[in-house]
Amino acid sequence: MHRERIYRGIPASQGISIGKAYLYTRRQININTLTLKEGEEGAEIEAINNSIDISLKELNKIYAISIDKIGEKNSKIFEAQIEILKDKIFLEGVIRRIRNEQKSAGYVFNDEIEKLGAIFIKSKNDYMRERYSDLMDVRNRVLRNMKREKLVSKVEENSIIFAHELTPADTILFSRRKVRGYATDTGGVTSHAAIISRALRVPAVVGMKTISKFVDTGNNVIIDGSEGIVIVNPSEETLGVYEEKIDRIKRHESLLYEIVNKPCRTEDGKNIEITANIEFVEETEFLKNSGIGLYRTEHLYMDKGDFPSCAEQIQEYTQISAATYPKPVTIRTFDLGGDKILQDTHKEMNPYLGWRGIRVSLDRIHIFKDQLKALLISSVKKNVKIMLPMISSVDEVRKARTILNEVKAELDKDEIIYDKKIPLGIMLEVPSAFILAEELAGEADFFSIGTNDLIQYILAVDRGNELISGMFQQFHPAVIRALKKIVMGGHSKGIKVSLCGEMASVPLAAPVLVGLEIDELSVLPSVFSEVKQTIRALKLTDAKALAGRLLKMSTESEVRQEVERFYEMKIKPKTL
Ligand code: PEP
Ligand code: MG
Repeated sequence: MHRERIYRGIPASQGISIGKAYLYTRRQININTLTLKEGEEGAEIEAINNSIDISLKELNKIYAISIDKIGEKNSKIFEAQIEILKDKIFLEGVIRRIRNEQKSAGYVFNDEIEKLGAIFIKSKNDYMRERYSDLMDVRNRVLRNMKREKLVSKVEENSIIFAHELTPADTILFSRRKVRGYATDTGGVTSHAAIISRALRVPAVVGMKTISKFVDTGNNVIIDGSEGIVIVNPSEETLGVYEEKIDRIKRHESLLYEIVNKPCRTEDGKNIEITANIEFVEETEFLKNSGIGLYRTEHLYMDKGDFPSCAEQIQEYTQISAATYPKPVTIRTFDLGGDKILQDTHKEMNPYLGWRGIRVSLDRIHIFKDQLKALLISSVKKNVKIMLPMISSVDEVRKARTILNEVKAELDKDEIIYDKKIPLGIMLEVPSAFILAEELAGEADFFSIGTNDLIQYILAVDRGNELISGMFQQFHPAVIRALKKIVMGGHSKGIKVSLCGEMASVPLAAPVLVGLEIDELSVLPSVFSEVKQTIRALKLTDAKALAGRLLKMSTESEVRQEVERFYEMKIKPKTL
């Protein structure tokens, strides 16, 4: 019996699968580097022309399959590859060199593509490096077709694919064999293969460094795309644990199906808004019936390694607003800094206390204006809300609103339509903001509490530091009281208070948050149904009484025990 082995990588697409591995290896392509003999260049030119024809046909087919499976936006990569092969000037250059230098078509084509790619490969920026992989993918296809080599993948249905690297085309083509997961040595969360896996709803783990060396076709494997884990030769015990997890996910999905159209209302009739936290447009497809309480925009910067243009942002925000319509989507302006690293040039001793979120936006007004303009232009359906991160003073909100008004005036001048009443809300996640909650409520159209940061700042516990992770306590009495103060501040001026930190995604915490009179919970899609079920099993009167008791407590263990007791007694019997 083989020993169980566990490998870790970057979680790229959620979900768990158990199955057989298929190791996908590509043969090395040999290129003829010798000088051609007299008269051989004609055949070489014919070979490259033929190969480009075949490659274009293949790519057009893949493009069509891709559009069908994951939509037009996610398929743009293939359009770009087709463009390269249709570039007449580039191809004429290749043919001229074959004639002049008497070198093989493969050699010249490879050399020209390498020249194009040289700019990308040196870049520190993920987006540019991805462009390099796209170019290499086109090159390999053309070279392979020149030798008339076919990529035969005798992959069994329901396999889990392992590879050093997967191109977008590989990912799409494998998906036709009902593949159950992808694991690769290379890639990050924004690599095309990762994006495509998410769109396909297939678990994926990327950046595993050497996994392709340790797995063979036919091995029994488990892939956990949520945790970023691959287990090879799992023991009976591990299999049992994961089968149970899969069952839980299935139960969650059927529950979701069952309660998706039911109101999110307590037993005694109080409506609580429940929305989702989303980072990638592809995720919206599975949330047809809910609004989005937090749409983070930082990935637009991280994908590109630079701020996206206004036009790129319009495309993104319009798509998300259309996908969510008629439900609202709360789009947060860039929250860069902290753990979402800006360029290397801005090294800081304490990044979480540094140049972050709204501070960056207010210092780089042209970037902020571009983003606000894109948000306004995308708001014509009147379901977009703007949210500002890391607010720590009244002045910041006033400044941001002034800038928003300036952008509105520019759009009015150009007669561009947008939602004139677009709500401008703020994140409550810095201690000074909760202390000034009442004053801030007079400046903002809504509040959203970011407990991930609020807890780290109130308790002075770095949210990403494993050494003190036990001290990151959502049930700390100081946290509970801060939440109450924020709600009272917001309600005193009649604005709604939402909570979009991870605390909203903990079913155990739902009675506390409802009891504290939070109006909306924005949760991770994976726990959407569980949180909704908890709220439906709850009585507002009981929840308020619970919150009242918690507000008088002085230790974390007292609060946690009371919350657990309440859950056991009042929720569990109704939800099991
Ligand atoms: C938070 O701080 O709770 C939050 C939702 O924002 P982020 O996790 O992006 O900092
Ligand atoms: Mg935050």
